[in-house]
Amino acid sequence: MTLFDDWRARSPFYSETHEAWTMSVRRFVEREVAPHIDAWEAAGELPRDLHRRAAEAGIIGLGFPEAYGGVSEGIDPFHRLITTEELARPGAGGLIASLMTHGIGLPPILALGSEALKQRIAPPVLAGEKIIALAITEPSGGSDVANLRTRAEKRGNSYIVNGSKTFITSGLRADYYTVAVRTGGPGMGGISLLLLEKGMPGFTQTRLDKMGWHCSDTAALYFDDVEVPADNLIGPENAGFMGIMQNFNGERLGMAMGCCAFARVCLEDAVDWARSREVFGKPLIRNQSIRHKLADMMRQINATQVWVDQCAWAVGAGKANPADFALLKVQATRTLEACAREAAQTLGGASYLRGARVERIYREVRVNAIGGGSEEIMLDLAARQLGFA
Ligand SMILES: Cc1cc2nc3c(=O)[nH]c(=O)nc-3n(C[C@H](O)[C@H](O)[C@H](O)COP(=O)(O)OP(=O)(O)OC[C@H]3O[C@@H](n4cnc5c(N)ncnc54)[C@H](O)[C@@H]3O)c2cc1C
Repeated sequence: MTLFDDWRARSPFYSETHEAWTMSVRRFVEREVAPHIDAWEAAGELPRDLHRRAAEAGIIGLGFPEAYGGVSEGIDPFHRLITTEELARPGAGGLIASLMTHGIGLPPILALGSEALKQRIAPPVLAGEKIIALAITEPSGGSDVANLRTRAEKRGNSYIVNGSKTFITSGLRADYYTVAVRTGGPGMGGISLLLLEKGMPGFTQTRLDKMGWHCSDTAALYFDDVEVPADNLIGPENAGFMGIMQNFNGERLGMAMGCCAFARVCLEDAVDWARSREVFGKPLIRNQSIRHKLADMMRQINATQVWVDQCAWAVGAGKANPADFALLKVQATRTLEACAREAAQTLGGASYLRGARVERIYREVRVNAIGGGSEEIMLDLAARQLGFA
């Protein structure tokens, strides 16, 4: 039993089916991911074929409706958490971000889209044949979603889209893009969701290089008089904002789980190193200050994990509260930040070398604290919901 498994053995939320799913995803990661992750990090993207193999292993369709090729029978939010946790083991956040972009790109279509759109888009995505991205953030600002500027003008049976998006995960490799556009007046009431497709004339993408998540392709998108069929509208016109907000809850829970898992990877590597490294004639771990670091990491991880599990239970019970997800995300990113720091400190110079899981995770702390709703925005959202005005 490893530090990774220890948690599930003690939590009342995990049963035999979760254990079986854990082993299934773990085998996939060991066989299909771990041997290649360094090469993918260097290449700056995941191979497209990985999506198909992940779909065959049941990972892509997990939790999505059976009618569109997913697997939902007997699946609860904890199975999804496990997928994230096991995909975190190689210590490369870009793997989860890019392999699982359908987790943020597809739900708005399934929740709001027409039956024809669902039937056309969901099955190939869930089979791993097509890749879908979610495009909300714009160069003018990501936090202030209600003021996004990309415009879609209705002309006959089409929308003409002009504007741009930035920081879009899987933005180069995607075939489909769930895009937030302004179809109405200012503010949240003028926003719609529209499906754009790779190859539409006037739609271009450029790669963005970044601090971490190297195996995840991130792009800026440009829309120059892109003609999009009106049938690609996702849900009613000017009703996209709620769809965006509902999507954020699932994304934040997943990110919080990812942070917990990456923090556990940090702890695992720090413990291994502290046991094997000899300093001043004895193992590093025999120093009380180092043992306290390790115990303190465990304290923060366990506290955060309890809250992650509680929120996952609330999703299953239909009692989810957005303020909880927002605060949980802050808690999780701060746990990761503290654990990445202490693990790097414990490993010393070894943590600074490329190839170490801790080195990679350390570089990925900020994207967790900024993406999917930054710390400041999360705290303010919760403060307002809690009536702290
Ligand atoms: C690697 C990566 C992948 C991403 N993937 C996607 C994706 O797939 N799709 C997508 O749509 N977006 C994506 N994003 C964008 C991400 O969601 C945004 O970066 C995030 O929402 C913050 O927006 P911003 O970067 O424009 O910062 P800004 O909104 O400009 O904010 C800058 C800073 O100011 C703070 N701030 C803003 N307003 C306030 C305020 N009122 N009070 C106090 N502080 C404030 C913010 O917290 C932040 O720290 C990704 C980002 C990264 C880095």
